[in-house]
Amino acid sequence: MNPTHHERLLNAVKNLKVAGTPDGPARHQPLTLLWAMGRVAHHRPRLVAWRDCHAELRALFREYGQPSSRPRPEFPWLALYRTDLWELHGHTGNVPTASGEPIKWMERHNPYGGLTAWAYELVDTSEESRAAVIDEIGHRFFNGTCPEQLLKDVGLLATASPVRQPAQPPSPVEEYLRLVQLVEAAEARGDHNRTTTSTREQPVRSDAARKAVLIRSRGRCENPLCTGQPNDVTDGGDPILEVDHIDDRAGWGRDHPENMIALCPNCHAIKTRGRSRDRLRPLLRTEAQARHEALRTQRRVNV
Ligand SMILES: [Zn+2]
Repeated sequence: MNPTHHERLLNAVKNLKVAGTPDGPARHQPLTLLWAMGRVAHHRPRLVAWRDCHAELRALFREYGQPSSRPRPEFPWLALYRTDLWELHGHTGNVPTASGEPIKWMERHNPYGGLTAWAYELVDTSEESRAAVIDEIGHRFFNGTCPEQLLKDVGLLATASPVRQPAQPPSPVEEYLRLVQLVEAAEARGDHNRTTTSTREQPVRSDAARKAVLIRSRGRCENPLCTGQPNDVTDGGDPILEVDHIDDRAGWGRDHPENMIALCPNCHAIKTRGRSRDRLRPLLRTEAQARHEALRTQRRVNV
């Protein structure tokens, strides 16, 4: 567990600003967070399109929201976006505030929303952090503890197995950062500006950078919208992932994990020739940078 991120997560949850209702504090923001944490527990994509999830959230709010709150998920999405916990992508222009009638904006832009990368990473790897958030939400919003049925409905009960144990030494984070150092040293020497001659001249590609990205991915496609990684593995037992440059290496995009991403074959095909590829590219860039940064911050805390 990363102690800094743990504190950061708990503080953000403690400091949620919610409206009052005659029955107690409005619950839509904490319910949205629990729902998102349930997605993490089941390794579902970090980000999800508004249109693909608002009905599910509405049903959750109807069941567990305060009786006088209208079940409208656009409000918690926009309120959470103002906190450290929530991201929106894929829209253009400014995000409206949670006051007024933002539903039209949500329908027009159909943004992708979800937990920020560092929060996702923490909830994914630390059972302790996950439990602390559930406790805090239960204490503040449910007079003590979250209803068991609610935790079941969002997929947060009986999730002990999907939580991965912290890595044994040598930790993947250390190994990732060691490889990044190799990459950066080679960059500094100018090695990355050379070309290699095979059938035609190509910029060199760093094996360390590729290995680092595979470690960072922890065996899962890094596209935050991925829905279709195959369960199969290669003959060598490795996950079926391809490491790709976000800005193409052939066009001298940087040969560094910040500009690289591990993708399953489906997502790789979408990035290369899907209609949504232009929309996907900035999202992948943000994701690679956020994951790189999450590991770097972790290192600063650990040493
Ligand atoms: Zn994928």
